[in-house]
Amino acid sequence: MTTRITHWVDGRPLEGASGRTAPVFNPATGVPTGEVDLASVDEVDTAVASAAAAAEEWRRASLSRRSEVLFAFRELLHARSPELAATITAEHGKVLSDAAGEIARGLENVEFATGVPSLLKGGFSEQASSGVDVFSIRQPLGVVAGITPFNFPAMVPLWMCANAIACGNAFILKPSEKDPSTALHLAQLWKEAGLPDGVFTVLQGDKVAVDAILDHPGIAAVSFVGSTPVAKYIYERGTAQGKRVQALGGAKNHALVLPDADVDMAADAVVSAAYGAAGERCMALSVAVAVGGVADPLVDAIAARLPKLTVGDGADPDTDMGPLITREHRDKVADYVGAGQQAGATVVVDGREADLPADGFFLGTTLLDHVKPEMTVYTDEIFGPVLSVVRVDSYEDGLALINDNPYANGTAIFTRDGGAARQFQFDVHVGMVGINVPIPVPVAYYSFGGWKDSLFGDTHMYGPEGISFYTRGKVVTQRWPDPATSSVDLGFPRTR
Ligand code: NAD
Repeated sequence: MTTRITHWVDGRPLEGASGRTAPVFNPATGVPTGEVDLASVDEVDTAVASAAAAAEEWRRASLSRRSEVLFAFRELLHARSPELAATITAEHGKVLSDAAGEIARGLENVEFATGVPSLLKGGFSEQASSGVDVFSIRQPLGVVAGITPFNFPAMVPLWMCANAIACGNAFILKPSEKDPSTALHLAQLWKEAGLPDGVFTVLQGDKVAVDAILDHPGIAAVSFVGSTPVAKYIYERGTAQGKRVQALGGAKNHALVLPDADVDMAADAVVSAAYGAAGERCMALSVAVAVGGVADPLVDAIAARLPKLTVGDGADPDTDMGPLITREHRDKVADYVGAGQQAGATVVVDGREADLPADGFFLGTTLLDHVKPEMTVYTDEIFGPVLSVVRVDSYEDGLALINDNPYANGTAIFTRDGGAARQFQFDVHVGMVGINVPIPVPVAYYSFGGWKDSLFGDTHMYGPEGISFYTRGKVVTQRWPDPATSSVDLGFPRTR
C-alpha cells in the first residue's frame, strides 16, 4: 500500500492531473512507500497564478505581521521536529539524529528571518540637496521558486523559503521527487502558522516542472541547489529568460591535514564528515590530503574507526550510517570503488564487502589510500561513503591540488599552527573554509555558497545575501512643497 504524495496549492493538497507519477522508496527496506505526482506545464501555470495573487496581498502585510507568522512557524517547526525527522529518514535514509540536525540548521534560517523588520531597513540621507532627502527601500520580487535536492529535504528549502517569504514574496518549492513528503509537512506548518494561502506552494515534479518554472514569465527568481550539470543548466536557462538565478552545484571537499595536526582529532573529524549521511552531503569531506609524515598514522587512525560504525536502518537509534538514496546510486558508488582499485588506489577498507541487508540500498564505508588526481574517484563527485586519501609532500602541494580542483564548495585544514591556518584561509580558492572544523556550513547570519563549479550566479544563499537576492532596491528622492524655493529651472538637477 503506497501513499499518494500530492502538490500543495492555494493552502491545500492538490492531486495531480498530469497522469504522471514516480515511485518513492524507503531506502532502508528497498520497498516503495509512495507515489508522487509529477506536475505538467498546465499545473505549473495554475500554481503560479495562485502564488501571484497571494504575493500581491502578502507584500502589503506589515513587517510585524510577517515576523509574527515567522515566529509561529519557528515554534511549530521546533515542536514537530521529531515527526518531521521521521519523515525525512523514511524517504531519505539518513539516521534520525542527522535528520533532526538538518531541521535544527534550517530552523536557524527561520530565526534569522524573524528579524525581517531590521533586515529590510534602508538608508536615509537628510538634506542631500537643499530641502531634498534621499532614502532607499527594498521591495519583494513577487513570485520566486526554489528547486531542491534530495539530500536535505528540510534544510535546503528552509534556506530559501524563510527569507523569501519574510521579504514579502510568494514562494514555490519544487522538491526532489526522491523524498517529496517533507515539503508537504512544511506547507502544513506554514498554514498552521497563519501564512495566507498561496504564499507557500509545493509543486511536485521532475524536469517537466523545472523547465516550466524556468520559462514561466510570472516567476521572477529561481534558487537552485543540486548537482553541477543541472545547476549550470538552470542558471543558463533561467537567466536567458531574464530571471534572477542563484544555482548551487556539487562539490569535492578536501581536508588538508598538516604534519603537526592532532591525528586522533583529525581522524574523528574526517570520519564524521566523510561518512555522515553516507557521504550524501554537499559539504562532506571526500578527500583527505595528508601532508608528509602524517599520512601513515592518519590512514591507520581512520581505518581503526570504521569497523566501529554501525550501518543499518536510519530509524534504529543504534545506527550510525544509513543507506544510499537509490539502488542505482548505491551501485554507481560501488563501481567508483572498483574503478579506483583498478586504477591503482589501495583499498584499505572495502565497503562492498560489508555484510548488509540486501533489500535496502546499503553500502559500507570505503577508505582508499594512494589516490592520484587523475583517478575518477578523485575527479568525480561520488556522493557516497568513500574517502580518498591523497598523499602530498608539502603544504604548497596540498594547496595547489585544492586550488586546481574545479569544485570549490567547502574545505578544512587540520593543524595546531595558527599562522599556517591563516595562510590557508587567505590562499585557498574555496567559498567556505573550516579551521579544525570539518563541515563549515555558515551560521544563518552569514551566507552559504561555494566558488567555481559549485555555484553559478552572483549571490550566495541565505543570510544577508539571501535578503538581497529576494528583494530589489528602490531609491526615493523627495522634496516637500516650499513656495519660497519654487522656480522653473531647465538645467540638470545638481546637489550643491
Ligand atoms: P540533482 O541535480 O539530480 O537534482 C536537484 C533538483 O533538480 C531536483 O529537484 C531534481 O528534480 C531537479 N533535476 C534533476 N535533473 C534535472 C534536469 N535534467 N533538468 C531539470 N531539473 C532537474 O541533485 P540531487 O541528486 O537531488 O542532489 C545531490 C547533488 O546536490 C549533489 O551534487 C550535491 O553536491 C548537490 N548539493 C549541493 C549543495 C550546495 O549547497 N552546493 C547542497 C546540497 C546538495
